[in-house]
Amino acid sequence: MSRSVLVTGGNRGIGRAIAEAFLAQGDAVAVTSRSGDAPEGAFAVPCEVTDPESVEAAFAAVEAHQGPVEILVANAGITRDTLVLRMTEDDWASVIDTNLSGSFRVAKRAAKGMLRLRRGRIIFISSVVGLLGSPGQVNYAASKAGLVGMARSLARELGSRSITANVVAPGFIETDMTAVLPEEQQAAYKDQIPLGRMGSTEEIASAVTWLAADNTGYVTGAVIPVDGGLGMGH
Ligand code: NDP
Repeated sequence: MSRSVLVTGGNRGIGRAIAEAFLAQGDAVAVTSRSGDAPEGAFAVPCEVTDPESVEAAFAAVEAHQGPVEILVANAGITRDTLVLRMTEDDWASVIDTNLSGSFRVAKRAAKGMLRLRRGRIIFISSVVGLLGSPGQVNYAASKAGLVGMARSLARELGSRSITANVVAPGFIETDMTAVLPEEQQAAYKDQIPLGRMGSTEEIASAVTWLAADNTGYVTGAVIPVDGGLGMGH
């Protein structure tokens, strides 16, 4: 049966692959981004996740188009990497506001409809560095670690209504976000990955669709690493 799915940041990269995987399953998929693009077959909605009014307007549009959101994938995210002493208040605040507060805004709004439906799946896209730490990414790692606490609190708060909240923690995945890293840095990362390669966006998408499947409703508060073994033990 077709379900109502919303993927934030679904116009490119990991979010796009997630949207395409749900579309391939026959779900009704809405995709938000700042630009408003979407893969073919998805409902494109412009949304700035740092703006609560924009989030509200996007949910209203999605609900009018395909009904209340049953599966939310909070994927939109940014980096503003620099060493801690050079990190400005703005570098810190913009990453926290997009990655952590943006995920809070969409999860809160989605939970409203899910509570009425008495079912739902909330999936946050975190990162291996949220648990491992990473030099130059104090803001980003903090935002991604915060998603774990948020998901686990939501899992406890909403579990009695059959709403699950889980985290997927990707390792280094080939997208625009990692393409900007210098080649030496990419090679150094690959050396630390037991599988010796970067991951594909499709490999993240399959973990997300698994967490949203009809028969995985007993998985909640979990952190699923999809990182080639990079974060083992965390
Ligand atoms: P991209 O940079 O390719 O895409 C980021 C997406 O987020 C875009 O769709 C972008 O929309 C959207 N976005 C960013 N800021 C906002 C905002 N303020 N409001 C609305 N949408 C916004 O990233 P990836 O696909 O690589 O990453 C997706 C997620 O996966 C991120 O949360 C990232 O932190 C996480 N991740 C990525 C890893 C990787 O190796 N690539 C590893 C671990 C985690 P627009 O096009 O309009 O700018």
